[in-house]
Amino acid sequence: MPELRRDPVTGRWVIISTDRQKRPNDFRLERTTTIGRELCPFCPGRESMTPPEVLSSRQNGSAPNAPGWELRVVPNKFPALQVEGTLDREGEGLFDRMNGIGAHEVIIETPDHDRQLALMSEAEIERVLWAYRERILDLKKDFRLKHILLFKNYGYAAGATLDHPHSQLIALPIVPDFVREELDGARRHFEVKERCVFCDIIHQEIADGRRVIQENADIVALAPYAPRFAFETWFLPKQHGARFEEAQRHVTESLARLLKAMLQRIDRALETPPYNLIVHTAPFVEGLHDHYHWHVEVMPKLTRVAGFEWGTGFYINPTPPEEAAKVLRSVRL
Ligand SMILES: [Zn+2]
Ligand SMILES: [Zn+2]
Ligand SMILES: [Zn+2]
Repeated sequence: MPELRRDPVTGRWVIISTDRQKRPNDFRLERTTTIGRELCPFCPGRESMTPPEVLSSRQNGSAPNAPGWELRVVPNKFPALQVEGTLDREGEGLFDRMNGIGAHEVIIETPDHDRQLALMSEAEIERVLWAYRERILDLKKDFRLKHILLFKNYGYAAGATLDHPHSQLIALPIVPDFVREELDGARRHFEVKERCVFCDIIHQEIADGRRVIQENADIVALAPYAPRFAFETWFLPKQHGARFEEAQRHVTESLARLLKAMLQRIDRALETPPYNLIVHTAPFVEGLHDHYHWHVEVMPKLTRVAGFEWGTGFYINPTPPEEAAKVLRSVRL
């Protein structure tokens, strides 16, 4: 059973995995490339290599866990957290820990091994977003869980170990610190100004224009004012809403369209870099986080996070966002 432990100085929670325990040798043997087509457990016909699916999209009446799918969601075979058990929280002197209850799932975005998100049709990207939503709505019913992280690692340098297009979902019994930082910031702004900080950003950035890359009726893609990473891009829904899963259909359609266009811009301008995509949405507690504003962040991996960043939590970004926005805007689609 994995365990969550809290650092007594900073209050930061970490997951200590017990099932995936590694000895020094295991790290030395770790792969340095992704798993390709020959051994891919996500390709059609290899459904038995993954745990049974919890959601799939099948138009042709094919049986679960058999070929014929367009998208599958399966529990991670090597989960960082596990769903069974009770959420026991206990102290040990000054230390705090709890059982690693949670869910860790993989969204296999397409049966086509080489069809990366940027190459998918808008309808296919929308199906991926549909799966995100369905899984959030389902896991929300579990009262032990407080927050869901949806993310995608693309490319080995961004943390992917498999080439096959996929995203991951981690549902946690706590609200993680990075999310907490944004929630706290949004609340402070709201308390002072009685306005949502993200709504304010959207209005100001659209009026200013220097950091806006592309927009449509529902979503704006922009380079944030103080990005941690070069070419970091945020996708903000123009209409206020705290939760991704409550977004209306036309909003997720617009997001799919803009994601495709933006990933193509990033691929062309930066030669298909590895990237991380993260969905930021409010924790499950209803009502409490209405001042939050859901969004998607995409961070190309162009530089490495090194000692300075680890030591300070301070990022050095070599590309001003105004310049990044200009470069991405000028890409011809
Ligand atoms: Zn595959
Ligand atoms: Zn807002
Ligand atoms: Zn965010």
